[in-house]
Amino acid sequence: MSGAFWEQKTLAEMTTEEWESLCDGCGKCCVIKLEDIDTGQIHYTDVGCTLLDGETCRCRDYTRRKSIVSDCVILTPSTLDQLPWMPLTCAYRLLHEGKPLPRWHPLITGQADSTITSGNAVAGKIFREENIADDDYPYHIVDWNNATE
Ligand code: SF4
Ligand code: SF4
Repeated sequence: MSGAFWEQKTLAEMTTEEWESLCDGCGKCCVIKLEDIDTGQIHYTDVGCTLLDGETCRCRDYTRRKSIVSDCVILTPSTLDQLPWMPLTCAYRLLHEGKPLPRWHPLITGQADSTITSGNAVAGKIFREENIADDDYPYHIVDWNNATE
């Protein structure tokens, strides 16, 4: 154990600052998802939420996000039941499952943009929601899971 806070604390024990720093900024949770009505399986797409900045992978109105995008999932220690819907590489999901952070995570590399430079973010790879017709979403299904180590 290195003494890092994410190895010593549970998600519920973290401060707000620690919690927020866990987000790797991949943007994968901010793409449009499709649910298979027969199986319940969730499919990720390469279409970004209307507030997602396609280059930085950050929400363009983080403070007001829920009031603008009603189905935006705000992950907190009390909404961990949402984690199965999150990407396999999501830092919150990894820690909740007892797994380590991947080597490209900014908390490991010390580089704020290492999720993007390592190819583990959706930056530069997504379409804008406004430009996609409803019937075309199935053609935009993408597996974003990348490397979890
Ligand atoms: S998937 Fe997890 S780590 Fe990636 S942006 Fe969303 S909350 Fe942050
Ligand atoms: S509104 Fe929610 S889903 Fe959309 S970009 Fe912001 S945080 Fe992501």
